[in-house]
Amino acid sequence: MIWEKELEKIKEGGLYRQLQTVEAMSDQGYAMVNGHKMMMFASNNYLGLANDQRLIEASVQATQRFGTGSTGSRLTTGNTIVHEKLEKRLAEFKQTDSAIVLNTGYMANIAALTTLVGKDDLILSDEMNHASIIDGCRLSRAETIIYRHADLLDLEMKLQINTRYRKRIIVTDGVFSMDGDIAPLPGIVELAKRYDALVMVDDAHATGVLGKDGGGTSEHFGLKGKIDIEMGTLSKAVGAEGGYIAGSRSLVDYVLNRARPFVFSTALSAGVVASALTAVDIIQSEPERRVRLRAMGQRLYNELTSLGYTVSGGETPILAIICGEPEQAMFLSKELHKYGIYAPAIRPPTVPSGTSRIRLTLMATHQEEQMNHVIDVFRTIRTNRYK
Ligand code: PMP
Repeated sequence: MIWEKELEKIKEGGLYRQLQTVEAMSDQGYAMVNGHKMMMFASNNYLGLANDQRLIEASVQATQRFGTGSTGSRLTTGNTIVHEKLEKRLAEFKQTDSAIVLNTGYMANIAALTTLVGKDDLILSDEMNHASIIDGCRLSRAETIIYRHADLLDLEMKLQINTRYRKRIIVTDGVFSMDGDIAPLPGIVELAKRYDALVMVDDAHATGVLGKDGGGTSEHFGLKGKIDIEMGTLSKAVGAEGGYIAGSRSLVDYVLNRARPFVFSTALSAGVVASALTAVDIIQSEPERRVRLRAMGQRLYNELTSLGYTVSGGETPILAIICGEPEQAMFLSKELHKYGIYAPAIRPPTVPSGTSRIRLTLMATHQEEQMNHVIDVFRTIRTNRYK
């Protein structure tokens, strides 16, 4: 069979992937993985909210009231009062007119891009944007031009040259998922204004993490409510599941009417929506989680670079320890595993070839001793290597 040959090739290239089984997860940054108690340094649960009792209780209560499944798409039987409350709350949180919830962040990107742009339009997309943006661009049938990562000069040149379109839209991750760096949003907004383009930001890794109130990249740069289209996920710092698009009333209304991932998929269950709703309140009322996260990110960045590792990130809870080839990243991941640290290797095609890495992520609920342990382990691995 053709796929068996393809699988062999994947294995030969050192890129074969297997599932890891999580048997339990605690709110203190520990998890049982494949029968071993591990310190979890790979989760997107940045604020530790996925295990917060308040979210769990909200979810249980809503499940008791509405049942486990939502029973239909939002436009048929799946739209509960909890979905509506969450959308209102998200619009308030993002300071936009409206917001709409989709089943995943992936679907939110597909929904936004396939609905808001079409074949006479141009998308300018950062080369490091997430796969769901790339897929959304492909499905939209708009022409897509990739600009160099976070490179405003390249973006401007591309805006100057490519003018013969009905509409042009610049799309960027707010925080880049594999490097943890922040998009130069003020510059992008400025260029969009000057060249009459729209801006769309994917705030999957910034929602709840950046900005004083956790409002994301726009808040971080003082641009709250000034981005044409903001999307994000409820599955990372928010600690639940789902995605959202926030923007003007007409934009949200149009997505509701036209976006195929919204129209043709069963709604999220009320339980998961209720946990997201509770999380948004906590995100705004407990800024100390963000303060702690930032301090921990900076500390880890400084310690690991001074040990001689090549690290990117530092301003966000995502740090990438760049290893190079897939085997080197796999080696480091296995070493970390020996010391009880769960941080898998990230390899192509998720990241460009030659940049295989360990993606280390922090949680506001990580304890001091866990941070000390991670730093000690990286030191030991480095020392053993150069002995
Ligand atoms: N955008 C970015 C930047 C992401 O990293 C992800 C998830 N890894 C998504 C979108 C998709 O979100 P979800 O997991 O909720 O589908």
